[in-house]
Amino acid sequence: MRESVIVVGSGLVGASTAYFAAREGIDVTLLEQQERGYGASGRNPGFVWLHCRNAGWALDISLKGRALYDELKQDLPVPFEFRAEGGLIYFTDERQSPVFEQFVEARRKDGLDMSLLDNKQVRDLVGPIRADVVGASYCADDAQINTPTVVNALVEGAIAEGATVLEGVEVTRLIASEGRIIGVEAADGSTHMADTVVIATGAWTEKLMAANDVDARIGRERLQVVATKPLPPQIKPVVYGPLTAKQYTLFRDLPAWDEDAFITEEERRTGAWQLSLVAQRANGEMLFGCPMDYPADVDMSTSVSGLRSVLQYIEQDFPGLGDAAIDRVWAGVLPLTSDMVPIIDEVMPGLIIAAGHVFGNSSGPMSGKLVSQLLCGRTPEMDMTEVRYGRPLDPITPGQIVHW
Ligand SMILES: Cc1cc2nc3c(=O)[nH]c(=O)nc-3n(C[C@H](O)[C@H](O)[C@H](O)COP(=O)(O)OP(=O)(O)OC[C@H]3O[C@@H](n4cnc5c(N)ncnc54)[C@H](O)[C@@H]3O)c2cc1C
Repeated sequence: MRESVIVVGSGLVGASTAYFAAREGIDVTLLEQQERGYGASGRNPGFVWLHCRNAGWALDISLKGRALYDELKQDLPVPFEFRAEGGLIYFTDERQSPVFEQFVEARRKDGLDMSLLDNKQVRDLVGPIRADVVGASYCADDAQINTPTVVNALVEGAIAEGATVLEGVEVTRLIASEGRIIGVEAADGSTHMADTVVIATGAWTEKLMAANDVDARIGRERLQVVATKPLPPQIKPVVYGPLTAKQYTLFRDLPAWDEDAFITEEERRTGAWQLSLVAQRANGEMLFGCPMDYPADVDMSTSVSGLRSVLQYIEQDFPGLGDAAIDRVWAGVLPLTSDMVPIIDEVMPGLIIAAGHVFGNSSGPMSGKLVSQLLCGRTPEMDMTEVRYGRPLDPITPGQIVHW
């Protein structure tokens, strides 16, 4: 059992680690370079997505993570937004039908509650969608969170359990003594000491660790989002468009896979793929996205070409929304590893890395719970072999497309 811990980074993973560790009676200090939810966790449209989680550790933690939200709703001291309205991936071209039929079949074999919807069923769930939509895969267990509200609730939960939370503290250096990490130093010169340091710094991890001579092969993927002003409720589930399919090996490995049916001329020409998606939050705002690219650093700026592609997507697939008022645009950078599961492990005495989450909405809070079990010296409730530090991982090359 560790008596004290410093958690670096207050996204879903760090905030959850702080909450669960504090609940175990550990003396927790949570350090965040900006403000809570500054990273990917505060910037994503909130898909709690089982639909496309690869079988194995990724699906297992997502199922546990989905269930954990019911507990968190009861236990956290402030509310957060969670909607259990399912999720779908629609398609608009008859050539795509056999791929979706095989996809639904394969996912059922993986134990998911999946079905194939027809035109009318899709239009009933997604009011503004183009009239000629052909169908969709649907997963009843997908859900949606308003991610900044979840991060905030976890941080408030940690504080209520006795954690100290310091925002505006950028950790720059690990402090070691006799082969063990015993604390961190921050850019403002302050030092913070503890039994163990947990690095939950998402897309910033690779560089922070490299500066401390620790190799952590965690790459970066930028996604851009357009949010409308509130509109009347008309979209219930979280929604992917057909272009997203090519991002997933779950689709690409199907016998019927035909990339030509899932790629636009522009994507082919530029190599900039779209994760076409929409979700409507409880307050009515709609979030549309997401062009993807792979920056060398954590670059959270939006681009002309990225935003243009989102606007084209809205006009093409949601023709009635051409006059919707745009409220704001942003980008976020998610962390990823070459095998698409995070690193969660004690990499040297006193140093735990919990980073590299591509799908942190379903896995982030549960990862924090697992880390707290490690800190308590208990066997984690999930097998951690797949996410161990020493496994072979390829570097993620900036600019190169990565399939999830
Ligand atoms: C646009 C977008 C869409 C996405 N869509 C989905 C989705 O639909 N479903 C899903 O499951 N996932 C989605 N993701 C991925 C998801 O957001 C991430 O998996 C998750 O947020 C990772 O959480 P994290 O806590 O590891 O990292 P982050 O949320 O990035 O948190 C890391 C924190 O560490 C802080 N930090 C970094 N360096 C330091 C330092 N040196 N000192 C102190 N603090 C530091 C950062 O400021 C940040 O707050 C999306 C991501 C983006 C950007």
